[in-house]
Amino acid sequence: MKPKSLPKYIFVTGGVSSSLGKGIISASLAKLLQSRGLNVTIQKFDPYINIDPGTLNPYEHGECYVTEDGTETDLDLGHYERFLNIRTSESNNTTTGQIYQTVINKERKGDFLGKTVQVIPHITNEIKRRIKLIQNVKNYDVIITELGGTVGDIESYPFIEAVRQFRWEVGMGNSVVIHLTLLPYLSAAGELKTKPTQHSVKKLMESGINADIIVCRTEHSLNDELRKKIALFCNVEIESVIESIDASTIYEVPILMQNEKLDDVVLKKLNLNNIQSSKLDNWNAFVKKIKNPLNEISIGLIGKYVELQDSYKSILESFIHAGAANDVKVNVIPIHSEEINPKSIDEIFKNLNGILVAPGFGERGVEGKIESIRIAREKNIPFLGICLGMQMAVIEFSRNILGLNKANSTEMDINCEHPVISMMESQKNIKEKGGTMRLGSWRCVIENNSLAYKIYSTNEISERHRHRYELNFDFVSQLSEKGMIFSGKNPDTGLVEIIELSNHPWFFGVQFHPEYQSTVEEPHPVFVSFVKAALNNKNN
Ligand code: GLN
Repeated sequence: MKPKSLPKYIFVTGGVSSSLGKGIISASLAKLLQSRGLNVTIQKFDPYINIDPGTLNPYEHGECYVTEDGTETDLDLGHYERFLNIRTSESNNTTTGQIYQTVINKERKGDFLGKTVQVIPHITNEIKRRIKLIQNVKNYDVIITELGGTVGDIESYPFIEAVRQFRWEVGMGNSVVIHLTLLPYLSAAGELKTKPTQHSVKKLMESGINADIIVCRTEHSLNDELRKKIALFCNVEIESVIESIDASTIYEVPILMQNEKLDDVVLKKLNLNNIQSSKLDNWNAFVKKIKNPLNEISIGLIGKYVELQDSYKSILESFIHAGAANDVKVNVIPIHSEEINPKSIDEIFKNLNGILVAPGFGERGVEGKIESIRIAREKNIPFLGICLGMQMAVIEFSRNILGLNKANSTEMDINCEHPVISMMESQKNIKEKGGTMRLGSWRCVIENNSLAYKIYSTNEISERHRHRYELNFDFVSQLSEKGMIFSGKNPDTGLVEIIELSNHPWFFGVQFHPEYQSTVEEPHPVFVSFVKAALNNKNN
C-alpha cells in the first residue's frame, strides 16, 4: 500500500567534478523505482542564466533536446525519456534564467508590495515553488530533482539553500539528498582517494545539507575499508556508500545500482515500506543484446560538432536501441563535414555501411555534407538525413540531377538563384531567436507504398521538430519529376516532412528529429530500418 505522505522528494547533487553522470544516476534510480511500481519523474535544474539551452551552441552543454510540447531543454531529459519511456515537458527543466525572469516580472507588476527583492527569500521561494510545480502534471509518488553544476559553484548556492529549506518544510523522512562524487585513482600510489569526496560533502554541510547517500564514481571497486572510511568522514551509514564503477554502457548503470541496493537504501530513508521488489527482466535482456551482438556495422555520422560526442547524444543512443533490435553493434564513426571534399571522400567512405547527415545550423561544413550525400545516392549507400541533413539532400539532388548549379538554402545564401530550401512563411517576421523555431511535435501524413509507410506501418505519425527553413514548394514538381518522392507531409500546412528516392535501396530524409523519440522499450522505427538497411548493404 502506498503511504499518504506522497510525493517523496529525491535531490541529486554533484561534487568534485562536472560530467560525472548525474543524469544517468538519476535516470537509473528512477528506473529502479519505476520497476517497483512507483510513479516517478525527474526534473533538471540548470544554474545558467540562459532561459533555455535553445540559444546555446552544442559545444557548450551538448545537444539541445526538444520535448513533445516544443520546449528546448537540457540533454539529460533525453536520458529520462529513454530510460523511463515517459514523456517530459516544459515542467521538467528549469534554469536560473527562468527563475529570475519570473521574479523580475512579478516585481514589475508590483507583486512584492514595496519589499526589497532579494535572493533570499524571493529567488529561493521561486525555486521551492518550482520543485513542487511538476506535481501538477500528474500525481507522482516520487519526484527526483537533479541539480546541475557542482557543489561549491557560486551559481549553485541559491539552489542548495532552497533545497535545505524545502527539506525542512516537507519534514524528516520525506526527502533524501544523494551526492554524486568522484574517487580519483592515483596509479602511482595504486589507491583510490577519498579526500576530494570528503571536502565536497563538507562543502554541502556548510550550506546546511547533510548528504544521505554518497554515490562514488570510480574506475576501481571499493573495498569494505574504503566504504567504512567514506561513511565515517561523510557522516552516513556504510550501506549508504554506493559504488558507481565505470560501465561499458550507460544502460548497465540501473543494474549496477540495483546490485548496490541504491533503491532499497532510498526507500528506507523515505519510509516507503512494503514496496514490491524491482524487476528488470526486459532491461537485462536489452543490455545482454548490446553486449552480445551477432553482427557489426559502421555508420558515418557527418556533422560539424563531431569533436564533442554530446552534440549528437540522442542520435548515438538511438543507434544503440536500434542496434539491439537488430542484434547488431553499430559503430558510429564521427566525420567532420569540413574534412570532406571530392578528393578525400573515397578514403573516408571506404568502410562505411551507411551515412547519416546530422542536423545543424549555418554554413560551416555544408559542402562536405552535400558531397557525402552525392556519394550515398550514386553508390546506393543507405542514407538518413535529419533536418539540415534532409535539406542538404534536396540541395544535392537539385544541383546534380536537376542541374540547378546554384541551388541552396536561403539560410546559407540569402540571395541564391535557386532557393530550394527557404525560410518558412511563419518564420519571416520573427526577430527574437529564443524559443521561436518550429518546435515540438507535429502531425505527418504518410503515403501508401512508400519507404516511410514500410518503416512506420501507419498513415499518420507525430514527430518532433526544431527548424526555421523547409523545402520550397516552388521546386516540388521539378524534383518529383526526376524521382524524388515526398512521402510525408503535414496535413494542415502541406509542409514536406519526408523525402525519398525512387531508385535507391534506402534513402530517407526527414525534416523532423526521430532521435528524440527513441527509447529502450521503443526503439525508433526509422533507426531500426536504417540499421537493417546498412546491415544488408554490408552483407551484399
Ligand atoms: N538550420 C536548419 C533550419 O533551421 C536545420 C535545423 C536543424 O537541423 N535542426 O531549418
